Amino acid sequence: MRLYKSEVIVLRDYDLGEQDKIVVFYSRRYGKIKVVAKGARRIKSRFAAQVQPPSYDSVVIHKATRGGLHTLSECKINYPFIGIRKNLLRFAYSCYLAELIDKCLEEEQPNSHLFELLVKTLYCLEKIPKQKLSLLMRSFEIKLLKILGYGLYLSRCINCGKEKGKIQSLFVSIKSGGLLCDDCQEEDKNRLEVSKKTVLLMNYLLHTSLKKTVQQNCDKAIEVELEAILKRYLSYQLSREMITSRFVCTSEKLELKHPII
Ligand SMILES: [Zn+2]
Repeated sequence: MRLYKSEVIVLRDYDLGEQDKIVVFYSRRYGKIKVVAKGARRIKSRFAAQVQPPSYDSVVIHKATRGGLHTLSECKINYPFIGIRKNLLRFAYSCYLAELIDKCLEEEQPNSHLFELLVKTLYCLEKIPKQKLSLLMRSFEIKLLKILGYGLYLSRCINCGKEKGKIQSLFVSIKSGGLLCDDCQEEDKNRLEVSKKTVLLMNYLLHTSLKKTVQQNCDKAIEVELEAILKRYLSYQLSREMITSRFVCTSEKLELKHPII
């Protein structure tokens, strides 16, 4: 019998029959992996607490034979992220992170950089002030795209090579994944105008640690412009919308009406 042992983040879970659950983990050693947690729907189950998103666990998994499902054998919580689970807005953001990882990756393609990024982002998400949460999300998106090889090309016009500093008005091509100059933008129907400050912010987020990023104060208008660009670029790359975006949006509105520290 082959065993998988790894640290994991619980991305999501769903019911399987009356007693079991399917749990989707993002693991350091094996990438995204789907397993059956037997009996996890029962209140007294040894797995009930451990397999709730976004727990950070150490697991032992029985590897499936001949195309069956992997089975969870042991599961120990390293860190439960209670602070995220207890706050609706933070929890909504964690669901968004999990959906991004889930949608961007095929099963069993390990990437330790991405695992580290997810764990660090969740630790920040639990602790930083609410005002910094959206910047944290943008930082995660930009770093994720870079790690997966879809980072936006930001130093020159991606079409003609004109240097960024010599371009009067900047645009982002969603299809080509980079900057466009004034001359090249007209032929690209799927492009957005972008301010120089937003391009500066994108470069900053790309090259700065999460911890340092969330200590900065950022102009809200620039953040909003960046969010719109990344949302459109991610939708294009994923060929679909993010389901949890609506949950995030509703939670943000609720937080504004009834702020919880
Ligand atoms: Zn150009």
